[in-house]
Amino acid sequence: MELWTQQQRIAQGQQSLQGSVGLDSWLLATFPDLEQTATGDIEIRESARERLDRLAGGRMRMFIAEGVFFALILLGGIYYMYRTLQEEVAVEHRQSIFLSATSHELKTPITAIRLYLDTLTSRELSAQKQAELLSKMGYDLTRLSDLIERLLLAQAVINPSHTPQLVALDLSEAVKHVLGELEQRAESDGLTIESSIADDLTALADPERWQLVVSNLLDNAIKYTPRGGHIGIRLSASGDWVRLTVEDSGIGFEPEESEQIFGRFYRIGNEDTRKAKGTGLGLYLVREIAQSFGGRAWAESEGLNRGSTFYVEVPLVLSSRT
Ligand code: ADP
Repeated sequence: MELWTQQQRIAQGQQSLQGSVGLDSWLLATFPDLEQTATGDIEIRESARERLDRLAGGRMRMFIAEGVFFALILLGGIYYMYRTLQEEVAVEHRQSIFLSATSHELKTPITAIRLYLDTLTSRELSAQKQAELLSKMGYDLTRLSDLIERLLLAQAVINPSHTPQLVALDLSEAVKHVLGELEQRAESDGLTIESSIADDLTALADPERWQLVVSNLLDNAIKYTPRGGHIGIRLSASGDWVRLTVEDSGIGFEPEESEQIFGRFYRIGNEDTRKAKGTGLGLYLVREIAQSFGGRAWAESEGLNRGSTFYVEVPLVLSSRT
């Protein structure tokens, strides 16, 4: 409408300059969208008006749609940023807990080793006492190197360029080996272990990492099961998969935590968990390793103090039964 008015003014100007033709007839001839009414006024034709209205309506709808679209994008962006920030804060919190847990874990065996060393060098001890202290030092050194190994592995697993070296591996061997190593500790913690390990189940896996999966799960079962409890470990073929099951009658967890416990540095924040030493890296590594073998890991519990069961499945390559 503004444009029309403007053009009308220009035309009037031109006309008055030329001064020859009648303004009305000149306007009508120049602008086909104008018409002369019965009263002799010059007006915009109804059809042109409607066309302009339609155009205006169309533009308005377009602006509203664009407005809504951009508002949604903006809201989505704000929500995404909020979530990212929240996650960042949570990760930072977990990392600081992890740092203090790790330094504590590193410090404890070092302090113990120093103490044994002081005792060994400053006192006259019987051969039996010396052997006892040396064996304790050996145990603490193993704990230290295990932890460092775990940290390095976690670093390697987190690295996106990391590719595990998979070989055809008899999974039962490693399970028996870890069981042999940890059985005594479980017994001295007042726990009973029952095992059922099928032989000759071969899968594509990395031997060291598979051993780490088994030892993490068994170590957790021992750590989180109070005296008098029971642990079951089973390795079996389940369809096209080899399944490792580690169950215990221990402190368990709320079913809604079953995913979070596989998160990096995640530890359940209750008193029972805090009493046990840990860094929150074990289950994270278990799942990452299982996935790198083409498998999966998950956990189930019916609730606190109702025990828990951990499962790892990897694709079966060969079984003595097939
Ligand atoms: P941590 O070093 O703390 O044991 P993990 O990654 O192995 O770290 O486990 C993460 C958390 O999952 C533990 O802190 C604990 O709260 C819970 N959890 C792991 N295993 C068990 C289990 N067998 N029974 C109950 N809770 C468990």
